[in-house]
Amino acid sequence: MLDLNFKFNADIRTILAEKGLDGDGRRWHQRLENIHPGNVEMALSEPAGSYNFEKLLTLISPAAENYLEEMAQLAHQLTVQRFGRTIRLYAPLYLSNYCTNSCRYCGFNKENKFERTRLTIDQAVEEANIIASEGFRDILLVSSEDRQFVSVDYLIELVGKLRDKFASISIEIYQMSSAEYAELFEAGIEGVTLYQETYDREVYTYYHPSGPKSDFDNRLDTPDHISAAGMREVGLGVLLGLTDWRIETLALAEHAHYLIKRYWQSHVSFSFPRLRPAYEIEGSQFRHLLSDKNLVQMITALRLCFADAGLVLSTRERAELRDHLVKLGITKLSAGSKTNPGGYSGHSGAIEQFEIDDIRSPAHVAAMIKQQGFEPVWKDWDIAFIR
Ligand code: SF4
Repeated sequence: MLDLNFKFNADIRTILAEKGLDGDGRRWHQRLENIHPGNVEMALSEPAGSYNFEKLLTLISPAAENYLEEMAQLAHQLTVQRFGRTIRLYAPLYLSNYCTNSCRYCGFNKENKFERTRLTIDQAVEEANIIASEGFRDILLVSSEDRQFVSVDYLIELVGKLRDKFASISIEIYQMSSAEYAELFEAGIEGVTLYQETYDREVYTYYHPSGPKSDFDNRLDTPDHISAAGMREVGLGVLLGLTDWRIETLALAEHAHYLIKRYWQSHVSFSFPRLRPAYEIEGSQFRHLLSDKNLVQMITALRLCFADAGLVLSTRERAELRDHLVKLGITKLSAGSKTNPGGYSGHSGAIEQFEIDDIRSPAHVAAMIKQQGFEPVWKDWDIAFIR
């Protein structure tokens, strides 16, 4: 009895450590290899949409690669059932590329020498106006770890000026405390995306050699802070290319499952950021980049385990692949993105965080969504009504 209680209250660090998912996941490799077609067929015959560890393990196994067509059909049906034939559109707005961290995969890391850019509130509003004029009502404010400048006060002031233009404002910035997230929620920010980057402690330490972000445990605890502050959306993800995607997917799913059980008011979403070349960063250094086929497998496997999760795809991926993935469970797409501060107005010529691949305009992406039989949604009406 006591033990059950302990399990229920276990934090995410304990859960991952007990399952061997915060390291190289060696114990799962043999299990993955031993899964055979009969196991996959059994997993696919179960009602789709609910999570259990064994099911996910089966669906991401090498054996399941031969069942991608079936997985894709089920993922499509389930997504249409839960979300209708709609795809939400959003745009990122980069605020600063000054950074106190030195993430080895990122063009903004503090070791790179280039002229850095920060947007004043007025400049950020100018960028946001361009985004709004393209039709977007869902905006993601993005910044490197520049606490001095992109502070809580800065964000509150900016959100105050954006609230009448955007129905949904989210952030993807450095990790914060629950109290800080609560202040931002109060100001009108309703979602936070924060990738763990990798759940493998050793790999994490290698890729984050210095700066506040080098603390693995603090990073891992932050989605708890986000949800405890009452945020409606918490976005999770791993950087695909740092280590074995299969083990990362298991850890990611455990993290989502843990948050869903603990914080009923927060809606969990997954992103699929496959690493891209960036300033002074060659794409060829990422030895664990997964194939398109395995990306489809990861996306559909997560959908079949998390019926209600948002699945988000950015312009990192090429147009042809994004067109295909729209029908396989994705619920939210970015379009026309600029990954440098000042990129929309074109004044600054600042360095971008990474190279995007799908360079089509928002209107072009919306037309593609319609062609696929879906409705592009620029505004999340549910959230607009709640506010
Ligand atoms: S990933 Fe984020 S925190 Fe790391 S160097 Fe880039 S901007 Fe800074």
